[in-house]
Amino acid sequence: MTYKITSVTSDHALLDRASERALSEHDRVRFVRPSLPELADVNRAYQKAYEQGVLTNGCLARKFEDAVAERLNVRYCVAVSSGTSALMLTYRALDLHGEVVLPSFTFFATAHAALWNNLRPVFADCLSDTWNLDPQDVARKITAKTSAVIGVHVGGNPCDVKTLENECGRAGIKLVFDAAHAFGSTYGGQPVGGSGDAEIFSLTPTKTLVCGEGGLITTNDATLAQRLRAGRNYGDSGSYDPELLGLNARFPEFNAAMGLAGLPLVASKIRRHNEIACAYRERLQDIPGIQFQQVEDGNASTFKDFSILVDPVKSGTSRDEVASALASEGIETRKYYSPAMHQQKLYREFAEKGDDALPVSTRVAGSVVSLPIYPSLPDEAIERVAAVIERVATGRD
Ligand SMILES: *Cc1c(COP(=O)(O)O)cnc(C)c1O
Repeated sequence: MTYKITSVTSDHALLDRASERALSEHDRVRFVRPSLPELADVNRAYQKAYEQGVLTNGCLARKFEDAVAERLNVRYCVAVSSGTSALMLTYRALDLHGEVVLPSFTFFATAHAALWNNLRPVFADCLSDTWNLDPQDVARKITAKTSAVIGVHVGGNPCDVKTLENECGRAGIKLVFDAAHAFGSTYGGQPVGGSGDAEIFSLTPTKTLVCGEGGLITTNDATLAQRLRAGRNYGDSGSYDPELLGLNARFPEFNAAMGLAGLPLVASKIRRHNEIACAYRERLQDIPGIQFQQVEDGNASTFKDFSILVDPVKSGTSRDEVASALASEGIETRKYYSPAMHQQKLYREFAEKGDDALPVSTRVAGSVVSLPIYPSLPDEAIERVAAVIERVATGRD
């Protein structure tokens, strides 16, 4: 199967063109290749919907929602047009107002959905080991104006759900999890998806479960689920008198067919991602100044991403040198998530002033490199990646 990375998503810098031309396709190591179900399986499910002329929000979408709810052990699942619209509708349906506390070290869609709802984003720092929201900093940032905390399972690594639930419960505010990377992660042995007021997932080609485009909201709250179903349909639940300001965020039947065919493949995909993560760690752990994202005992990550931190002092090199050495060998990388959100144009005005605002997020974002990870990545590619990093970091040839 060939799949052009350029058509997957446009938010990534591509490999340097010159080195791209100089290397044969065989030598190149792509950053990501979505693993898709067989098209015949997708078409078989889709054909009936197509013939009946039901193209959106029909039986397949419902069947997909039910299959997801069962798999994630949560009462309700609402499928929508994207992870971003899932966040936008969830913030809206929960009637959030004023301020929301969220991490700076995440993909910007987490915060975009807040701005679209006229909410003020208040950034909290992350922890230096898990790279997830620091609950102590969250507690410091909750004020009388705060209506919710948005936790993110960065890279699929479950964040500190229990502590955040306790803090939000005490403050009497809502708690939403951006689980865009965490379809198939487990927290304390339970599938991620049933915590807080709601969790949201993304179904784009770079995420674990791929539907082309799409998003999911999972919740145990019947009223919220009902509001979200109205919300994805302009806010109208059938009376032609909208209950809330909604969107057209319906879920196409073709995407549901792809999701249904893809669901059985998720477990083996995550197993392979975990094998690759283990292999990278084993190979890189003795190199001075290379650090990894830590998954807490009792949790499991999808390893949607595998990123390393390059400590410039201890490694004698920098993240950018590592990335460009890899690029010149035809190995694509990304810098997830750099710059941190509080350093981006749209969000600077919301950051606390001062040099040491969010010191951990600044440091992690400034030293992170994300390495290729996907089921079809060959073992020899892992070795090639590791050898380049070792050479750059130790200065040996
Ligand atoms: C991908 C992503 C989203 C947005 O999902 P889309 O389906 O692309 O709209 C939101 N949050 C995080 C953390 C993401 O990585």
